[in-house]
Parts: sequence; structure tokens; C-alpha cells
Amino acid sequence: MKRLGLILSCLVLAASLRAGNVPANPLELTRTISHGDMETFLRQVARPGLITVTEEGRSHGGRAIYLVHLNRGGAKAHFRVLFYAQQHGNEVSGKDAQLCLIKAIADRPELLPEDVDLYLMPMMNPDGAEAVRRTNGVQADLNRDHILLVQPETQALHRVARRILPHLAVDSHEFTRDGKDWDARGWDCWPLITMDGLNAPWIPEALKEQALVRVEGARRVMEEAGYPYTRYTVGGLPPLEEIRPSTTEMDDGRNSIGCMGALSFIIECGVRRGPDAPGDLGVRADAYTRLYRYLLGDPASRARIEALSEAARKAPLPPFTATNFFWANLDGQVRTVKVVDRATRRVLEIPTPSLMTDLVVKASVATPSAYVVDASSAAPFRALLDRHGFTYRVCAGPETFKAERCRLLRVEESYDDLYGRYEHRQIVARDAAADREFPAGSLVVPLSQPLGRCVLGVLEPCLLYGLYSYKEFSALARPDGTLPVWRLP
Ligand SMILES: [Zn+2]
Repeated sequence: MKRLGLILSCLVLAASLRAGNVPANPLELTRTISHGDMETFLRQVARPGLITVTEEGRSHGGRAIYLVHLNRGGAKAHFRVLFYAQQHGNEVSGKDAQLCLIKAIADRPELLPEDVDLYLMPMMNPDGAEAVRRTNGVQADLNRDHILLVQPETQALHRVARRILPHLAVDSHEFTRDGKDWDARGWDCWPLITMDGLNAPWIPEALKEQALVRVEGARRVMEEAGYPYTRYTVGGLPPLEEIRPSTTEMDDGRNSIGCMGALSFIIECGVRRGPDAPGDLGVRADAYTRLYRYLLGDPASRARIEALSEAARKAPLPPFTATNFFWANLDGQVRTVKVVDRATRRVLEIPTPSLMTDLVVKASVATPSAYVVDASSAAPFRALLDRHGFTYRVCAGPETFKAERCRLLRVEESYDDLYGRYEHRQIVARDAAADREFPAGSLVVPLSQPLGRCVLGVLEPCLLYGLYSYKEFSALARPDGTLPVWRLP
């Protein structure tokens, strides 16, 4: 019995050592790292002056959301980077890659350039990770919560992003390469990994252009590593179903952090989930690690990103704000999309006119100088503005402004087949500006504030997608459709 006890305690010790034993080389990963194993690892790897671990919030299920800060250069580290992962609990490889990166830097600190101030949030959705599902503990999709910010996980991410103000940010996901529709054609999706940049229309062009330069530049890096890579797109199958870059809305991590002035990306790594799926976690995490390192770049590329990001933060808002826009193929050009023929494993190039990568603007408004929220709806709006860290003032007495009223005509619930647009479009009419007295307690939210681009994305009533896509805010419209947010020209 004594001997059995000894063997058991040896096994327990071996298991706990393994738990903390994250490999520096992602190719050595055999299984994904759980929240519990991550906690053990982070406790072991923390080291004063190099790796600091802080708890930034708790999930609905009470699990800690961690921020890992890696810094070798102290005050010399001026290039601020935020990599975050696993907002969708069943999309794991970005998190595993980040933990391997931490281990690699712990083993060889010289891997971290002295000018890089690196922040990692490897597991944004620990409840979803534990349950192996996309959503969080209350079945919310975290990457559709960046306007409302009601989930503790997204709130933690935004608090960190506002505190750090990263120059470079990356959100990390996974997509399925062998879904049902692909099955039916006998194809697998070709890329192992994909990436795209921020794209909300009111983000400065220079930042969006630079993002696309990096997205294209990664082709060479991934080709050298032997990993199929292309720009991240969503949609159907070639040749005739629409394929386009993903959402332009501010409701996801990439665009919401991008509106804060970061050169912001989403990486999506492909997983085959069918019965003959390879156990390729190590390969996926390796592809991730290579893209992270590529984006960290060299001193010259970091200096360029830092300058662009700082300039974006100072840049005035555009005079006009696009409110209605969609992806199109401007001249009907035929391009090719790669797929893998499942039977032969051959790569096929399918010609298609349905690759839509041109953003077409159908309607715009003049960018206002501020918004006024009517006092009758001040409570839910103050909560919203506070969650975002926006600056506003509360009117002490009645105040008169020349303001534009907006009216919610309807919310279109279904997918738009004609223009390929998502559900919940808010159709809003705008009246000419006129003097109106707002009661005490109304809120004035100026656009000239550090987070002005975020304010625009959250509050602009004329956007096709916005607050009134959500019932708790569309319910605040008066019977005649009048919305609580008024525009000040
Ligand atoms: Zn995802």
C-alpha cells in the first residue's frame, strides 16, 4: 500500500509538471492547453523584470482572464503590442501559440526585442474553452459584443486596450476547412491560415493601407514555411457564391481596437474537423507563431507602425462618414480561388467573378461635432459610455442645441441577399437641424476626444449597423421612431 501511495504521488507530481510544461516549440504541442494548465504554467513562468501576469477580470463562471506582459527593455520598450485569443472558446490554436511564445521568451529572453512592449491575453473566453463551444458562460458571442460591451470578458479586453493603447493588435480565431457545403463538393478550404486588417470606413486610410501591405507581405513568409495562406474572407463556395473580406462593423475586436488607433488584425487559422481530420494543433500553432513574429517585424517596420498609429490617434475625423456600404467586385474581374480536391489532395484553382474585395459606399452623412442623448434615456447611455470610457458632460439645466433628429424606420432582421449584407440593419431617417431644448440630465458627447472614432462607431444613429440592432436600444425609440441620440452638426 505504501508503494502504491508513492507511485500515486509520483503520478500526481508528473501530471502537475506536465501541466506547467508548455513547449517553446509549438510543433511539440500534443493537445490544447486548458485554463487550469495555463494557470499552472503562468505561475511558473512569471519572472520579475521580464514576465508579469495580472488578472484583468473574471468570466461569468468565475474564471480569471489573464494579461501577460513581456518586457525586457523597461522604458526602452515603446512599441506596444496586444495579441489576444480565444474569444471563441472552441478556437484554440492562437492561445496555444501565445503560451508557446511566452515559454520561448522565458527560455531565451533575447527573442524579445528591447523596444517591444508585448501584452498577451491568451484566453479571453475561459468558460467557452472549458465547455468547448464558441460562446461564453451566458451563450453570448463575445466577438459581437464590442458595441454594447455587456460581457465581462469583452469589458476586460477593452479596459486593457484603453490602458495600453497598443500600436499593433491581433485578434486570433479559427475557422472550419471542411464544413458541410465543402463536403458536398468534395473539397477542403485551401488555406491553413488567413489574416485581414481593420476596415471600418472612418479609420484613417493610411492605417488600412498599411494593414493590407502586411496582409500581402505575409504571403512570402507563409510560403517559405510551406503553409497555405491567403487574405481572410468569408462567404460561400467558388465560383458563384459571394466571397468577401469579413465584417466592416465596429462590433468585433479587430475594428473596435482599430478605432482606438491600433494597426489591428484578425488571424483565422483553418481546422479540419471531419473524421479523417489530422491532429495538426502543433502545425496550426506554429503557423500562428510565425505570423505573430512576422507582425512584430524588425526595428524599421515597428517604427513605421508606431508612427502611423500615433498619427491615426491625432488625425481628425473625416468630414463625411459612410453609413451604408458593402463589398463588391467593381469591374466584374475574374480571379481565382484555391480549393483542395479531397479525393486527390490536389490544389485546384477555381476562376470566379464572385470574389468581392472592393468596398462600395452607398450613403454617407456629414460627420457631426457631437451627439446629445436625451435625458429620458440618459441612464442606459451613461452605462454604455462608461463601459467604453468615453468622455461626456451632463447638462445641469435645460440647454438648447441646433440638433438633427433621427428616426428609426425599421430594423431589417433578415440577411440581405441582393447586397450580401448581414442581418439586423437599422434603417434610419434624419431630419434637418433645428433648435431644440434638451432637459437637464441630457448628455453631450463630443467627437473631439481621444476615442472619437469609437464614439462615432457606437453612437452614430445613421449607420446601417449600430446600437438599434439591439432590442434594448431600439426599445428606447419613441412611438414615432425618434431616437434618443441627436446629432449636432
Ligand atoms: Zn472565431
